[in-house]
Amino acid sequence: MRSPSDLADAFRSSGRKLTPQRERIFRILHDNPTHPTAEAVHAAVLVDMPSVSLRTVYSTLHDLADMGELVQLDLGTGSARFDPNVSEHHHLVCDACGLVQDIDLDVPDFPLPLDGAGGFRVDATQVVLRGRCAPCGDAVPPASSAR
Ligand SMILES: [Zn+2]
Ligand SMILES: [Zn+2]
Repeated sequence: MRSPSDLADAFRSSGRKLTPQRERIFRILHDNPTHPTAEAVHAAVLVDMPSVSLRTVYSTLHDLADMGELVQLDLGTGSARFDPNVSEHHHLVCDACGLVQDIDLDVPDFPLPLDGAGGFRVDATQVVLRGRCAPCGDAVPPASSAR
């Protein structure tokens, strides 16, 4: 994702409406490593702009995704997550707290069986590693899962 001021220029030149609310959303997302949900972005905007609606947040996120500045991810955490890192990378996902973290991995090409994949052409490979982050892994398991 480009810098907030470059994004403001890109928004204007693509004929999209640029508002202080949208610029605030750009700054929240820029270099944001937390893969926030739309709700988390909304909560961060509300801190200093209490009248911004979740709908405004969604439309800004979708505009940014359309422009290729943001990737929408479904990592099985319950809500879509938004990632300003648009280069190819992989994710660690904590099944306990929903933490999503970037990870650089050398991923090999997975050879597809010639007859079985129906001529499918792979354009990208994204690996999601599920487990527990350090704080969740150290926590005492809840009583319901103890034997
Ligand atoms: Zn965790
Ligand atoms: Zn990421």
